Amino acid sequence: MKYISTRNASLSVSGSEAILMGISPEGGLFVPESFPQISLEEIGKMSEMTYAERSAFVMSRYLDEFSFEELLEIANRAYSRFDEEDACPLTKIEDALYILELWHGPTYAFKDVALTVLPQLISACRAKRGEKDKTLVLVATSGDTGKAALEGFKDVDGTEIMVFYPDEGVAHMQKLQMITTGGSNTYVAGIKGNFDDAQTAVKKIFTDPEVREELKAGGYVMSSANSINWGRLLPQITYYFSAYADLLSSEEIAAGDKVNFVVPTGNFGDILAGYYAMRMGLPVEKLVCASNINNVLTDFFQTGEYDATREFHKTISPSMDILISSNLERLLFEMTDRDDKELSSLMSALKETGKYRVDPLLIKRKLGVFVAGYADENETMETMYNTFDEYGYVVDPHTSVALAVYNDYYLASGDAAPTVVLSTASPYKFAQDVYEAVGESRVDDPFKAVKKLHFLTGMEVPDGIANLESMEVRFTDVLSGDQIKQKVLEKVKKQ
Ligand SMILES: *Cc1c(COP(=O)(O)O)cnc(C)c1O
Repeated sequence: MKYISTRNASLSVSGSEAILMGISPEGGLFVPESFPQISLEEIGKMSEMTYAERSAFVMSRYLDEFSFEELLEIANRAYSRFDEEDACPLTKIEDALYILELWHGPTYAFKDVALTVLPQLISACRAKRGEKDKTLVLVATSGDTGKAALEGFKDVDGTEIMVFYPDEGVAHMQKLQMITTGGSNTYVAGIKGNFDDAQTAVKKIFTDPEVREELKAGGYVMSSANSINWGRLLPQITYYFSAYADLLSSEEIAAGDKVNFVVPTGNFGDILAGYYAMRMGLPVEKLVCASNINNVLTDFFQTGEYDATREFHKTISPSMDILISSNLERLLFEMTDRDDKELSSLMSALKETGKYRVDPLLIKRKLGVFVAGYADENETMETMYNTFDEYGYVVDPHTSVALAVYNDYYLASGDAAPTVVLSTASPYKFAQDVYEAVGESRVDDPFKAVKKLHFLTGMEVPDGIANLESMEVRFTDVLSGDQIKQKVLEKVKKQ
């Protein structure tokens, strides 16, 4: 399988090159040349597999430089770090309504599903290519990617990792998780501005010729742990198949039945993986793209206009406070029948004017599987309360956005297809807001909120959250966007 760039379809690289490069030199994103097919019979067989086997099975369709056994070893190592027997368990909360819990990994957010795999893939790709240079991994995070990437890359030989988060834009627990990270190859800094500023600054570094030059001289190549990297997206495809296989084996559905997936969306990586699963043959009825009040994507799917020039809102679902959803580029590539010229021009319009427009009829025709909606802060709080009240089930604010948007969609459409809601974070990462919604009042101290939430719900507190209070803070830098480049250059010169 070869990979092409969304902005230069004549560029063709192998899977290991795509993963090591992270992003194409002209700024485009790598996409597989075609979508390998997985038959219903094969999905049925997945029911008998462990999660790691399912993961290796899906990845092997895309990474033909690796044997199934190599990929299985990687997946086994990754998913043995999850706290459940089953890395991504499916819970039924009502007839035809299921929650796919993606937060049983080491940092309690769905990013772990891919970021326990990516560092190993990078090491394995380096070995395959005989790469001598060290890999410098740059990460912009809206909160959860940062910690998951730090834990994944911490003390991995031949890698250095630098994480940049919006200083005022992440939850208290998320920030604490990052700035207390150990490891000799880690660096974390806050960025003045929001996530989009951080992501734009980091993306700029990837295409900066001076940085590339200096890195080369210092014996480094750059890569990305953001979902722009193919190696980040690929492991996310598996859980869509996995959920379907679990529905089959529990006889909730019959082979071939179409299922809805509802996805709390920010950078569009998670839901794009669902779209890719569908293109590979997974029977999907609708992919519901759920946003918070930063609802650029809702407007895009409804009108064809992508307009990031609007007020940025800080919400209680900070990992979705994003106005520039990078992975939409990969979807537009499919929508335009892989027109790289068109993509280049749309993306330069976005860069220069903050917006672009496509024909809404084309969206309807080509992307009819998508439904988009958003939930405001009140609905998000209310849905956390209702979900606990009705089902005794606690969700974090991001998952609550998805449930709220699904409720609206269900009422408006009457679509009765079995529905899987992707649950993206442990409620304990956002204990203050969750406790305020399901408990009695707001608690000012986040660690007290954790305890109160535990006493109210009986839900086990993850060690990594309970211990945070006593961990030493290692990183205190707060940088402006243009200081990132300086820090990167310092890092590669110092070694
Ligand atoms: C990252 C994240 C999201 C959004 O996922 P994207 O792939 O960026 O669309 C949703 N919820 C949580 C908890 C996250 O960490």
